[in-house]
Amino acid sequence: PFDVLVVGGGPGGAAAAIYAARKGIRTGIVAERFGGQVLDTLGIENFISIQHTEGPKLAAQLEAHVKDYEVDVMNVQEAAELIPGGATGLHEVKLKSGASVKGKTVILSTGARWRQMGVPGEAEYRNKGVAYCPHCDGPLFKGKRVAVIGGGNSGVEAAIDLAGLVAHVTLIEFDSQLRADAVLQTKLRSLPNVTIITSALTIEVLGNGEKVVGLRYRDRNKDDEHLVELEGIFVQIGLIPNTEWLGDVLALSDRGEIEVDARGATSQPGIFAAGDVTTVPYKQIVIAMGEGSKASLSAFDHLIRSGG
Ligand code: FAD
Repeated sequence: PFDVLVVGGGPGGAAAAIYAARKGIRTGIVAERFGGQVLDTLGIENFISIQHTEGPKLAAQLEAHVKDYEVDVMNVQEAAELIPGGATGLHEVKLKSGASVKGKTVILSTGARWRQMGVPGEAEYRNKGVAYCPHCDGPLFKGKRVAVIGGGNSGVEAAIDLAGLVAHVTLIEFDSQLRADAVLQTKLRSLPNVTIITSALTIEVLGNGEKVVGLRYRDRNKDDEHLVELEGIFVQIGLIPNTEWLGDVLALSDRGEIEVDARGATSQPGIFAAGDVTTVPYKQIVIAMGEGSKASLSAFDHLIRSGG
């Protein structure tokens, strides 16, 4: 068995594996797709100390750094079930392939995925005007016109954030009213360069072959269609944690995120979690790496204390 078994090969899992391996303990990492969301990212400009990098390049560097150490990398392997072993027993992770791997401690860093609108043009213009992360891509739209899709807390927060950077924000909500906290709605309505459209269903992302030029939505009350000309669309209709495979073996939040304490410990002794899959707020690369490192040090501490 491994001393530390990491599930997930994004920035969180890579950091966890490196920190464990540097303690000289047996470390394994299972990943469905090494690199995680970073693989889907174009420019990255907030990875502190690196002014600019690109997703596939950073993903390759993550893998190279992990492979500098004696880490057993099991790539293109999907975890299908977690069977906790209690405070001193072995935890088992069953893979979809039918194989099974065991660890004295486990670190879960299976990340999350942005909910997509599922309309024509969305996938085609991803990273060409269609964006999901205002903290990441907001500055790219400085002085331009953007829409935010979704009037929940994340959508309204994104619209307030972007209004300070871009020329104009159109917030589009499917429901007849915004669902964000009242204080956020008040702030949003006080901004001069924001238009709020409710009861609207986005039906198409329009582009010129190279980048986004607009979107079409249907007014659900009048049942007619409208066109908004713009350069960017931020989709904020939910971030879904990859926890379906865990069933109910760990305490999850009502959004399905793994509940962790300040050390990355979950509700099961010896099982830790890090990154976008957890309740830790703000889903970012540097945060996932910090949390992965922390969870790994916590796992090491657990091993020392449990005589492992
Ligand atoms: P992830 O990166 O999601 O990695 C999860 C890993 O777990 C993957 O290897 C996945 O294959 C694996 N996995 C999932 N389920 C299973 C399973 N059942 N079994 C085995 N493995 C599994 N952040 C920034 O800081 N700056 C940016 O500029 C930026 N831009 C972004 C642009 C886009 C388009 C997107 C989608 C995200 C962006 N982010 C950015 C967010 C950032 O990518 C994430 O916060 C970060 O990747 C989270 O790391 P993680 O390790 O927690 O999870």
